[in-house]
Amino acid sequence: MAHRTDMDDAVHLSTPIREPVPVEGCTTCAELAARREAGRRGGDLSAVSDRNVEIRRHPHREAAG
Ligand SMILES: [Zn+2]
Repeated sequence: MAHRTDMDDAVHLSTPIREPVPVEGCTTCAELAARREAGRRGGDLSAVSDRNVEIRRHPHREAAG
């Protein structure tokens, strides 16, 4: 009889993926974020996750000068 005592961090039921945050001042990210919200409102979750990927992959300059 082994009772498992290691804590399972959290049970991710509703939000399996943490959504990327659009970079401040980036118009492309802002547009993608707006489309993401539009998709969410329309119930199009695959569009939402597509936009998340695009936001995550959008290249940015490291340091704003
Ligand atoms: Zn961006």
